[in-house]
Amino acid sequence: MSRVPSKHTKPERLARSLLHSLGYRFTVNGPKNKCLPGRPDIVLPKHRAVIFVHGCFWHRHPGCKTATTPKTNQSYWQPKFARNVERDSRNAEDLESLDWQVIVIWECELKNLEAVAARLITELPRASRYELPDELEDTALVSENRKRYGSLERDPECIP
Ligand SMILES: [Zn+2]
Repeated sequence: MSRVPSKHTKPERLARSLLHSLGYRFTVNGPKNKCLPGRPDIVLPKHRAVIFVHGCFWHRHPGCKTATTPKTNQSYWQPKFARNVERDSRNAEDLESLDWQVIVIWECELKNLEAVAARLITELPRASRYELPDELEDTALVSENRKRYGSLERDPECIP
């Protein structure tokens, strides 16, 4: 059981609903979720960013009180934990070398959603790269959404 068994755990659902409420667009089941290194839980294509929602125990959140080591069977746990940490860091390196931004949300952080929201807004600024949903583009709702999402600059690649 080196991999978290369920793809859509409660912490992941919390993170997704938070992202949704903040107005981010993301995929959880798209091709990039399956193909990018580490099979990220959440992919934000417009930001070229991925989010991993990590359980503190399995992924060894540094300094977290949940990241305990069972007293018995240490020869079993230690290598298993070491492999998880090594795999996570290799995946992050691979993603960064492909120019993807990697964000980790630790399970324990989700107890304080406002703090997570503040971090996401800082790390995933929407103003420069956020794009309106297609159905809202060129409608009266655009100005409303500008107010909501901040000033919008079109992605240069998208300018016809
Ligand atoms: Zn933690």
